Amino acid sequence: MSDQAFDLISIGGGSGGLACAQRAAEYGAKAAVIESQRLGGTCVNVGCVPKKIMWNASNVALALSDAGDYGFKVSLGDNDWSILKSKRDAYVLRLNAIYERNLAAKGVAYLRGAARFLDKNTVEVNGARMTARHIVVATGGKVIVPTLPGADLGITSDGFFSLEQRPRRVAIVGSGYVACELAGAFRELGSEVELFIRKEHVLTSFDVMLGKSLVREMREQGIVIHQQILPASVRDVGGLKTMKSTDGREFPGFDCLLWAVGRASNVAGLGLEKAGVAVDEGDYVITDGFQNTNVPGVYAIGDVTGRAALTPVAIAAGRRLSDRLFGGKTDRRLEYSMIPTVVFTHPPIGTVGASEAEARAQYGGAVKVYVADFTPMYHALTTRKSHTDMKLVCVGPEQKIVGCHVIGVGADEMLQGFAVAIRMGATKRDFDDTVAIHPTSAEELVTMR
Ligand SMILES: Cc1cc2nc3c(=O)[nH]c(=O)nc-3n(C[C@H](O)[C@H](O)[C@H](O)COP(=O)(O)OP(=O)(O)OC[C@H]3O[C@@H](n4cnc5c(N)ncnc54)[C@H](O)[C@@H]3O)c2cc1C
Repeated sequence: MSDQAFDLISIGGGSGGLACAQRAAEYGAKAAVIESQRLGGTCVNVGCVPKKIMWNASNVALALSDAGDYGFKVSLGDNDWSILKSKRDAYVLRLNAIYERNLAAKGVAYLRGAARFLDKNTVEVNGARMTARHIVVATGGKVIVPTLPGADLGITSDGFFSLEQRPRRVAIVGSGYVACELAGAFRELGSEVELFIRKEHVLTSFDVMLGKSLVREMREQGIVIHQQILPASVRDVGGLKTMKSTDGREFPGFDCLLWAVGRASNVAGLGLEKAGVAVDEGDYVITDGFQNTNVPGVYAIGDVTGRAALTPVAIAAGRRLSDRLFGGKTDRRLEYSMIPTVVFTHPPIGTVGASEAEARAQYGGAVKVYVADFTPMYHALTTRKSHTDMKLVCVGPEQKIVGCHVIGVGADEMLQGFAVAIRMGATKRDFDDTVAIHPTSAEELVTMR
């Protein structure tokens, strides 16, 4: 069997693997992508993209429900989930095709199949051997289903995107961003939703203001939130699911139960041990600040490294790795700090930098916090209300801004620009000296006292 030889092979054609291989090819390297499922990975197929479409659909529902208050004579009919799904699926298929064309246009070889290492420079796909000087592990993550009786009666976020019909009554177990986002989409599109969370609040890795405010907003939306619940088992009763919690309580009558309890590293069957690549106790590939593994010539990027599981992070790490390997930029690497992110809830959340608690733990009394809370002007005429909460976390006599956290209408589009300023070292004074844009919600961030 003859080997196909490359300069770089990306194992995984998701956000990170594609970005890395394409950037390598731009430098003239002979690059290949191996993908076992659909090009685009989690983000395009079962993550950011279809999720954002569902969020957009929910926003249409909210706008329709507010329309009467703005003088429109419209009535809010039912959302036809199957039309929405088929259009969403068609869009994702278009993206899959675009990704494939982009690879061809850049001269990147694309192989469909599951790769496994034979040694540190060789992988096998569909019985064929491929070698490369540089191999990048970009195999992403996979959903976790808890190991408890009846767990397989539930679906996960992957299953959410396969639902052909909108369930009437949904139980969601989890308190991270996926749980909150899917709860919001189901609810605004017409399902009854009950959210089961382990603690008092959701989004516990973010500034506490965000989780608290979101719980309040979700309750306003009509989402029932059960706090301090740990699931023990699930059973089918006449086609509906009953969840039992560890304290013996039963929650019956759900036609859909969705586990949103986190994601795990996706390295099963990859044969990392054949290449001698080290993983941590959670099976995440151990990398240094330059995406190097312990094996020279083998790298890892994206969710499989267990760091900041976000699409732009995987892309940035992949591109910078190729800049370094093929573009002569020897110091190029991703700094894993001040990474802004958005949670597509209703209202959305935008956040960057340290939470107040993190800042206080690190800087103690040198921390000063500014907050604002208000009802956005959009709601001046609407019966339905949503609330905005903002927080700036500042440090030291110069009041350098180390964290900015917003929940409220428009927060999703607000944070990107502020993140640039904060990353550049903006102080409270810089914010104060910036003229406000009126009338917006964002102006409150530069007028805080
Ligand atoms: C519901 C949901 C919503 C999300 N929303 C957002 C969002 O709004 N914004 C955001 O930034 N991030 C979001 N994310 C996270 C984002 O999708 C991931 O961080 C991102 O996709 C990671 O990219 P990756 O390249 O590391 O892995 P992936 O995109 O998961 O790609 C890995 C690819 O490797 C393939 N693969 C695995 N093993 C092999 C093998 N042995 N051989 C060949 N191929 C293999 C897989 O099939 C997969 O396609 C969301 C995730 C989920 C689940």
